[in-house]
Amino acid sequence: MPSHAPKARSLSQRDLDVIWHPCTQMKEHEQYPLLPMVRGEGVYLVDDQGQKYIDAVSSWWVNIFGHGRQEIREAVKAQVDQLEHVIFAGCSNLPAIELAEKLVAITPPSLNRVFYADCGSAAVEVALKMSFQYWKNVGEPQRTKFIALENGYHGETMGALSVGDVALYKETFGPLLFETIMAPSPDCFHREEGESWYDYSLRQADKMAELLERHHQETCAVILEPLVQCAGNMRMYHPVYLKRIRQLCDTYKVHLIFDEIAVGFGRTGTLFACEQADVEPDFMCVSKGITGGFLPLAAVLTSDRIYQAFYDEYSTLKGFLHSHSYTGNPIACAAGVATLSLFEQQPVLQNNQALIAKMAKATERFNEHPNVAEVRQTGMILAIEMVKNKAKKIPFDWRERRGIKVYQHALTRGALLRPLGNVIYFMPPYVITEDEIDHLAQVAWEGLDIAVND
Ligand SMILES: *Cc1c(COP(=O)(O)O)cnc(C)c1O
Repeated sequence: MPSHAPKARSLSQRDLDVIWHPCTQMKEHEQYPLLPMVRGEGVYLVDDQGQKYIDAVSSWWVNIFGHGRQEIREAVKAQVDQLEHVIFAGCSNLPAIELAEKLVAITPPSLNRVFYADCGSAAVEVALKMSFQYWKNVGEPQRTKFIALENGYHGETMGALSVGDVALYKETFGPLLFETIMAPSPDCFHREEGESWYDYSLRQADKMAELLERHHQETCAVILEPLVQCAGNMRMYHPVYLKRIRQLCDTYKVHLIFDEIAVGFGRTGTLFACEQADVEPDFMCVSKGITGGFLPLAAVLTSDRIYQAFYDEYSTLKGFLHSHSYTGNPIACAAGVATLSLFEQQPVLQNNQALIAKMAKATERFNEHPNVAEVRQTGMILAIEMVKNKAKKIPFDWRERRGIKVYQHALTRGALLRPLGNVIYFMPPYVITEDEIDHLAQVAWEGLDIAVND
């Protein structure tokens, strides 16, 4: 009897029949392959064909210790056998307590309260709502505005989008968002010829001073990404900006929220980016690296001073009005404890210094490339800005989609290198080797040539 059994459909065909992917024009997958990954091994991802790829972007910046890290894997397994979940109102659990203790210990001294959420955007919502409700609780309900930075990104829920400034999202959802006061970015790509990062960052802080002078009475908080505007094309600035903004927020009695979701946990060279300016925020949002990529989790840290404004007899109304079903999930928190333990047990930040130097050296030659306006670096983030005109820093039209050509080429060379617009960047797991960095730089060099000559 002839077999009429249908030919087995590939994983990518099955995927495209049922899944709607994030931030993707799905039609593009008629042209570009989708890569079903079946395994992870350290810095590598392995697809269903057995092809290996260096995960140069730490899978959207979360897998800081690469894939399948044994210590985290085992902690998750152990917790699965113990307690998978419990309501976090009225009940607690050991991993949530241990993780909070660790977070309090490693963040700036004034941050000693931890509120859990389950993704970065939700953490930003929490920080915004906490700041807003704080002012209401202390009798200053006229404070209803936030100040944020141009070119900033804080996630994609409505509140997070409202304080963000990525044009693509703002244009579409603008009518749904609340009004935010936007301050010019300290993004040093725009400094004058010969001007230092330090001088430009300070000059941009003066513009924040003007806004605070004008709006402080109606402002709850300033929110920003310390040192690197990651989703905003990996634009960077000098720590002096944070120092100055802290002074201004003190002067005008406005909260300061640091969104360390992308830059926290060693990414900028220090455990937290704000350490480089030696300043403390009133709220700090962390997520991405917190579980090493094992489970979704986020946290907002704040001070006792803020906490006390919500502490009251009987009234739930004065308590912080926010909850998520999965708040304080024990498995996610156990992954968090194991991830932070790695920083305690091993000289991670010290080891990264060699990788940071290697990334700089491996990409030196890009500076001379006629279509590279800038190679910039903050710790374990290195970005290469492709342009049409080097001298005048004229960008390629984003519709030409040159970044995707780099991406396509890199895949053929065993690297997952996913540019942001015209910016090629490395944000690798901390377990990458110097040889693998050399390989990435070579692949990026080839990809750049293909992209700009196309
Ligand atoms: C990724 C990111 C967010 C949002 O986190 P999600 O987990 O994607 O919701 C917020 N802020 C910054 C700086 C980020 O990089």
